[in-house]
Amino acid sequence: MPSFFEIEKTCPITGARAGKIHTEHGIIETPIFMPVATKGSVRGVDWRTISELQAQIVLANTYHLTIRPGEASIERAGGLQEWSKWTGPFLTDSGGFQVFSFARRGQAKIDDQGVSFKDDLEGKIHFIGPNESMNIQKRLGADIVMAFDECPAGNADRKTVETAVRRTRDWAEKCTNFPLQKHQNLFLIVQGGKFEDLREKSLEEITKLDAKGYALGGVSVGESREEVEKVISNMTKKLPINKPRYIMGIGMPRDLIVGVLSGADMFDCVLPTRIARHGGYFSEGLRFKSVSQKDFSDDHDNPLVIGCQCPTCKTFTRAYLKHLFLRKEITVYYYLAVHNLFRLLNLTFDMRKAIFNDCFPQFLKKNLYLLS
Ligand SMILES: [Zn+2]
Repeated sequence: MPSFFEIEKTCPITGARAGKIHTEHGIIETPIFMPVATKGSVRGVDWRTISELQAQIVLANTYHLTIRPGEASIERAGGLQEWSKWTGPFLTDSGGFQVFSFARRGQAKIDDQGVSFKDDLEGKIHFIGPNESMNIQKRLGADIVMAFDECPAGNADRKTVETAVRRTRDWAEKCTNFPLQKHQNLFLIVQGGKFEDLREKSLEEITKLDAKGYALGGVSVGESREEVEKVISNMTKKLPINKPRYIMGIGMPRDLIVGVLSGADMFDCVLPTRIARHGGYFSEGLRFKSVSQKDFSDDHDNPLVIGCQCPTCKTFTRAYLKHLFLRKEITVYYYLAVHNLFRLLNLTFDMRKAIFNDCFPQFLKKNLYLLS
């Protein structure tokens, strides 16, 4: 049995790395972008397309699945893969991100044990702490399971972040002691918000605990762009070198490049499918634009991005996609999501190739426009 994670190549100049994660449901080649299947399906995109886009792992949200349909029915079906029919690896988050967003809206009560909250679907009171989160994720059966952490808002004050760092550490310890299924791998999460010393403290405490991988959490939750990038570039390198490094919840192309450059291996974000539902797509510079924008000319016979090899760009003109969007034809959400997922996945594939071919610095130079 190969080890869980192997580094195949490291760029000697930047420290960017290419590796492999071995799971029971398949190998994940890193660096990798993970599409988000919030409720057990990537919004608007079927699994066959997700496979064709060569996604290698998808993320599902524990909070959404525990509220409905409940982990019992997914467990009864044989776990996430059997239930959803996505046969590749799954990662589940801890549910913490969603329940703490309730807390920020005053709809939840947090203490050192966990969070009590009223769900937004049925109005029932729930409690999730580290053991509850582990138990739900154990029953969901994902290959990678995230520790239950406290994720404060990007603008939270120092005292709030200090408490979150302490709880995240205590809860991480409980999570590491929780017996998961044999095939499951626990990742721990570093918090600390935008406070450098608290990030350092959290990193030191969390990486003392043994886990299969480590993640940076609470990044891009309302801080400025400079603050986001500072945390990514300062902290990623300090995570253990021989374990996968995951930056949670970032999905702007620029973030992926800064992340890989800083030595990160995994990323996830709802952005590619979320912006698609509003007519948004990643343009040449990988910033996003909308098909309904004024300068988006009707008689434009070009694809969304000239030269893009995605199924949408190889088939349709911008004019046609704009028409579908304005007439609310639901297929347009699929076409735009496919383009957006393709762009992010291929960005990670291109970086992997560049690392292997000893030309990651050249890749950066060539793609500087993506960083502007
Ligand atoms: Zn495209």
